[in-house]
Amino acid sequence: MEELDPEGLGYIELWQLEALLLQRDAYMSYSRPLSSGSGSAAQWSQDIADGGAQEKPATTAAPGRGGWRRWNPRRAAGRARVAAEENWRRAWVLALWVAAMAALFAWRFAQYRRSVAFEVMGYCLPTAKGAAETLKLNMALVLLPVCRITLTRLRSSWARFLVPLDDCIAFHKVIAMAIAAGICLHAGNHLACDFPRLIASSPGEYRPLAGFFGEERPTYRSLLSGVVGVTGVVMVVLMAVSFTLAARPLRRAPTRTRLPSPLGHLAGFNAFWYSHHLLVVVYLLLLVHGWFIFLVTKWYQRTTWMYIAVPFALHVGERTLRALRSKAYAAKILKVCLLPGNVLTITMSKPCGFRYRSGQYVFLQCPTISPFEWHPFSITSAPGDDYISVHIQTRGDWTQELKHIFVENYFSPCLPSRASFGELGMPEQKSPPRLLVDGPYGAPAQDFRNYDVLLLVGLGIGATPFISILRDLLNNIKLADELMVRSDEPNNIVQCR
Ligand SMILES: Cc1cc2nc3c(=O)[nH]c(=O)nc-3n(C[C@H](O)[C@H](O)[C@H](O)COP(=O)(O)OP(=O)(O)OC[C@H]3O[C@@H](n4cnc5c(N)ncnc54)[C@H](O)[C@@H]3O)c2cc1C
Repeated sequence: MEELDPEGLGYIELWQLEALLLQRDAYMSYSRPLSSGSGSAAQWSQDIADGGAQEKPATTAAPGRGGWRRWNPRRAAGRARVAAEENWRRAWVLALWVAAMAALFAWRFAQYRRSVAFEVMGYCLPTAKGAAETLKLNMALVLLPVCRITLTRLRSSWARFLVPLDDCIAFHKVIAMAIAAGICLHAGNHLACDFPRLIASSPGEYRPLAGFFGEERPTYRSLLSGVVGVTGVVMVVLMAVSFTLAARPLRRAPTRTRLPSPLGHLAGFNAFWYSHHLLVVVYLLLLVHGWFIFLVTKWYQRTTWMYIAVPFALHVGERTLRALRSKAYAAKILKVCLLPGNVLTITMSKPCGFRYRSGQYVFLQCPTISPFEWHPFSITSAPGDDYISVHIQTRGDWTQELKHIFVENYFSPCLPSRASFGELGMPEQKSPPRLLVDGPYGAPAQDFRNYDVLLLVGLGIGATPFISILRDLLNNIKLADELMVRSDEPNNIVQCR
């Protein structure tokens, strides 16, 4: 490794590694003199920088490994360029989203600023209505980053060059935060400002609003017990539950074990997952809420359904398709092994029509354990294999139960060593439980073919996507060798001519 770090900084940068790997010749001419003790490490570093990367490394200013470096404008410009290259997709998506929210807010704000109700409720009303418009947009947008089938298709299209598909869940969370902020602004203004002002308005001030609220001035109670009030309050409560249980500290498994008994059930992945399904009710209530909205009389002004309809239909359509498709993809278990480190390897028959790329993952369901739980696992077989395999580390309830069912109940309980992998897991007479497969779904690692240099970094079970990638590369090397051997055969040479 010293050869890669001639200046003794204690680290190397990715461009150095890439230059090294792409320019084997340059590296070889460097490494030979170095190994014989006559070469200059700094010279090599310079060679690589000149030949392989556009940016030269900065010279060190302070002694010692990892010491601070003098600011170098070329280096800073290089870093800025790399940052721009890495982030321009995120930047334009976020900029467009913020601009859309700002435009919608401003448009509604200006509209209600000119309304008769403004005379009674003041700036609280346009603020609440502006926030409501961003809420409609965000309630529609938040569904898109979790439409997995659509996203997997987009990964294979030109859209992957423009849209940061690896950041979908992060974007989903950012939108959820904007929704929470929008709810505070919308509900807070209505409950704490608009309603009290409306109730306290003089008969003269109220008269122009009688067409919206009735001849008699409403009370706070009547406003809250109407369709809009009830749906609004129920939505806020359901979303508060769902958002709280989705928070990272509660979603993580250790929290569940740390909390006292009944509260423990409110933490963990399942609590997050099931509570997120409350949002289906929220969407239905939102449509009702949006239809009976205050201060609107014409149908085309009730725009909530216009925002929600397409993303909601897409999401429901995907979930239906996934349910139907997974029934068709019931896989036959061919082999189960227990590897060191509590890793269970399941090899299944490849369902008809199931095509995937290395790096992708599937959801597995074992109806014997739970007919509702789907768990994601990277595919570890290669696309060319005539089976699918997954490596599952036992982490919590579901994976423990899976191990229990497969290894202890249905298969020989022998604990294999790594070397005997291929011989293990011969099923006994009992037939194993069914496993349903849903997928495949796209993941960042599937783009490995787009690069000249592959550096696969994975810790523990996180390395599973790379098993598939390496198998795929090996399969392709073997195939290329076979083709070369065949083309060298005399018959083939004649044919070629
Ligand atoms: C894209 C992806 C690929 C994965 N690939 C592999 C793999 O190849 N091999 C492997 O051993 N593990 C993999 N995992 C992790 C695996 O899904 C979880 O370890 C498993 O679901 C744990 O379930 P449990 O009930 O046994 O554990 P729990 O104790 O409930 O959870 C353990 C951890 O897994 C997370 N988790 C639990 N259920 C789910 C779920 N349905 N979806 C997402 N995360 C969940 C929890 O947040 C927690 O952090 C992958 C996860 C993802 C998101």
